[in-house]
Amino acid sequence: MALVQAWRIGEVVIHRVLEDESPWVAPSTLYPDLTPEILASHRPWLEPHLLDPATGKLVMAFHSFVVKTPWHTILVDACGGNDKNRPHKTGYHMKSWPYLETLASAGYHPQQIDFVLCTHLHADHVGWNTRRVDGRWVTTFPRARYLIARQEWEHWSVGELRARYTTDPYFEDSVLPVIESGQSDFVAMDHVIDEQVRLEPSPGHTPGHVCVRVGSGGAQAVLMGDIMHTALQCAEPDINSCFCVAPEQARRTRREFLGRHAGTPVLILPAHFPTPAAGWIRSHGPAFRYHFDQIGE
Ligand SMILES: [Zn+2]
Repeated sequence: MALVQAWRIGEVVIHRVLEDESPWVAPSTLYPDLTPEILASHRPWLEPHLLDPATGKLVMAFHSFVVKTPWHTILVDACGGNDKNRPHKTGYHMKSWPYLETLASAGYHPQQIDFVLCTHLHADHVGWNTRRVDGRWVTTFPRARYLIARQEWEHWSVGELRARYTTDPYFEDSVLPVIESGQSDFVAMDHVIDEQVRLEPSPGHTPGHVCVRVGSGGAQAVLMGDIMHTALQCAEPDINSCFCVAPEQARRTRREFLGRHAGTPVLILPAHFPTPAAGWIRSHGPAFRYHFDQIGE
């Protein structure tokens, strides 16, 4: 699969920079409320690209999007990262991905990034905020302002709330160093970065979860974060992941998002859908389907 893809939205160019894509997790693990019967009813369209027949696991991707407007270069979501100690999240444990090389092949060096925006502060969205240099965690993007939704910070900075998600030290190695370096800005969930890029509140999966809306020249895209983890949730919008902090709110946000975008030309860029990741939402009976883009730029 291609490690880099690109799409153009008016004057804005969006690159996808892939860290990893693989059969990742059993559907019943990610979605505790998913019954075998519901899964069976969708298996014909999920296999083989979205549900790996050999392992029975959902295929998931971990990637960043780099959004380049005429004014700013914005990196959205920072994957799992390298050298991170994750005893309880072994999929992200002590990795050595060629992520910075992939970023370079997309045409970007860390110094060129003006803003880093994590749609939320889960371990698989903050990893490349930092990298280990001489045994210390330093910010990967030396010039960047790291934008953090204030509500997201207020939730995850509470140790007991964080412990319900994981006791792995991801906050210490991938979030706190950004605060300590003085590069963080706490922002509103509807913060405007420039004329073509703005944040949009989408709470539920986490309390301060945000999407990133890109609009230019009459075209529109939205970086969806984890409103949905896989395309199965378009067909079953009420099914939450085991990581959704506020289940009812997550369902409401997902249904609203699907209803608002169904049948529109707005390009959807999800955080975990496999290659080609991008696509469009269409109505399908009482629910929805995801139509993957055939090819990027
Ligand atoms: Zn995620």
